[in-house]
Amino acid sequence: MKTFGLFIDGEWQDAKGGKTAPTINPATEEPWATVAVADPEDVRKAVAAAKRAHDSGVWRNKSPQERGEIMQRVASAIMESTSDLAAAEVQDSGATMRKAMMTDVAGAAGTFTYFGQFIAGDDYKRMLCEEYEEVAPIPSKNLVVREPFGVCAGITPWNFPLVMAAWKIAPAIAAGNTVVIKPASVTPVTTLMLGEICTKAGVPAGVVNVVSGPGATAGEELAAHPDVGKVSFTGSTEVGRRIMQLGAGTLKKVTLELGGKSPNIILPDANLDTAALGALWGTFFHQGQVCESGTRVLVHESIHDKFLEKMIAGISRIKIGDTMDMATTMGPVVSAVQRETVERYVALGNEQGAKCLVGGKRPSGMAKGYYYEPTVFDNVDNKMRIAQEEIFGPVVSIIRFKDEDEAVRIANDSTYGLGGAVWSSNKDRALALAKRIETGTVWINDYHLINVKYPFGGYKQSGVGRELGKWGIAEYHEIKHIHIGEDTPPEGKLYLGLLLS
Ligand code: NAD
Repeated sequence: MKTFGLFIDGEWQDAKGGKTAPTINPATEEPWATVAVADPEDVRKAVAAAKRAHDSGVWRNKSPQERGEIMQRVASAIMESTSDLAAAEVQDSGATMRKAMMTDVAGAAGTFTYFGQFIAGDDYKRMLCEEYEEVAPIPSKNLVVREPFGVCAGITPWNFPLVMAAWKIAPAIAAGNTVVIKPASVTPVTTLMLGEICTKAGVPAGVVNVVSGPGATAGEELAAHPDVGKVSFTGSTEVGRRIMQLGAGTLKKVTLELGGKSPNIILPDANLDTAALGALWGTFFHQGQVCESGTRVLVHESIHDKFLEKMIAGISRIKIGDTMDMATTMGPVVSAVQRETVERYVALGNEQGAKCLVGGKRPSGMAKGYYYEPTVFDNVDNKMRIAQEEIFGPVVSIIRFKDEDEAVRIANDSTYGLGGAVWSSNKDRALALAKRIETGTVWINDYHLINVKYPFGGYKQSGVGRELGKWGIAEYHEIKHIHIGEDTPPEGKLYLGLLLS
C-alpha cells in the first residue's frame, strides 16, 4: 500500500501526532493508500512555512515572466506524471480512467499553462500597474498597483481533487502568493502529489504546502488562521457559510465556489437528438458529482415525450464498470455515505410523487463498489426536494414547461445559481433566454464546458467571487493606490488652506 505524508516546506513530513488514515478506493471498497492526518498544529506549521517563503521574497520578487516559466515547467511535469496521477485519482475518487486522463490530469496541467502564460503577457502587465494623470484639484500622478496577499488558503472538495487543487494553486502563485491547500480527507492523494510536483519543477520550498486532514479541525484552523490573507473554498454551501464566519474574525478575503441545482432548458426548436444526449452528459458525467450538473432538465411540453424517449435510449450507452478500464464511462460515487445520500433522495422523490422512469437502484451483479444506476425522475414539480436540494449523484429531474416565461420562473426558483443551459436551433432566442437565467454560467447547445480563460462561479447561494481567467487571478491581489504629488512650495498645496490660516 502507498503511503503519503504531509507536504510542508518543500518536503514530506509526518503529522505531528503521528496520525494516519487509509484512503478507500470507491470501486473496490478497499483501502489503497495511507495518508498522514494533519491536526491544527500541522496546519500552523504549514502556514508558518508559507509565511516565511512569502516574507523572504523568494517567490513574489521574481518577475511574472520568471514565475510563468516555472509554472510552465509544473504543467509539463504534471503531463509527464499522467499515468501516476490518473491512477491515483481513479483509486481515490472513483473517477473513471477515461475521465482522469482526459479531464483531470489535462485540466490541471492546462490551468498551470494558462496562468503561467497569462502573467507573462501584456494584459497582466497592464493589470499590475495602471497609471492615471489628474490636474485638479492639484496635479498628481496615480498608480493603481496590485500586490499579492501573502499566504492564501485553498480548501477543496472530493469530486475533482486534482483540478480543484490546480484551480487554487495556479492563480494564487501566479499572482505571487504562497499557498496552503487542504484537500478533502477522502481524496487527498493527487493534491499531495501535486505539491511535490510543483517543488520538483522549481517552485521554491514553502510556496506550495499541502495538509490533509478533517475539515472540522485542520480546515477550521486554516480558515481562521490570522496569517492567512485570503481563503478560496470549494465545497458545499453549508460549509461555505462556516468558512465565511471563520474568515470574519480577521476579515479575510473569501472566495466561495459552492453547490448548485442547475437548470438545463430544452426549447421546442432544439435538435432533440443532440439535446437528449447533452442532457445525459450534463447530468451523469462523473456520476452526477459535478457542482454545475444540469440536474433539473426543463422540457417544453410539446416535445416532452419524444425528448424523454431519446434521453432514455441514450442511457444504454453509459458503461458502468471497472474504473481502471478505459472503456468504462461511469464509476461509483465517492463513498458509502454519498451513496446513502443518493438513496435517501431517490426515496424522497418516490414519496413526493415523482415518477422514477429508469434506475433508482444499485446495479445488479456488482458486489463491490459504491455504484448507483443513472436515475431519471419524470413528473417532477420544482417545489419537490429532489428539485430544490443538491443530491450530488446520478439523479436527474424532468420538469415540464409551457412557455419561456414559465421556464425562466422555474429555472430561477432556486436558492442556487451556478450553471445552466439552453438548447435551441435559434441562437438569438437562446441568448435572450440565457440572459434571464440567474446563474454564473449558461451554455447554449453545450454543457459542462468550463474554459480556464473565462470566469466560473455562482450567483445567489452558489458562491462569492469568481475563479479562472483574468477575473480569477484578480481575486488574488490586494489593490493599492499610490498618489504621486508634485514637489512644490507650500502655496502649490491648496488643501493646506483648509487647516492653516
Ligand atoms: P464539503 O463542503 O463537505 O467539504 C469541502 C472541503 O471543506 C473539504 O476539504 C472538507 O474537509 C472541508 N471542510 C468541511 N468542514 C469544514 C469546516 N468546518 N471548516 C473548514 N473546512 C471544512 O464538500 P464536499 O462534500 O467535499 O464536496 C461536494 C460539494 O462541493 C458539493 O456541494 C458541490 O456542489 C461543491 N462543489 C462546488 C464546486 C464549484 O466550483 N462551485 C466545485 C466542486 C464541488
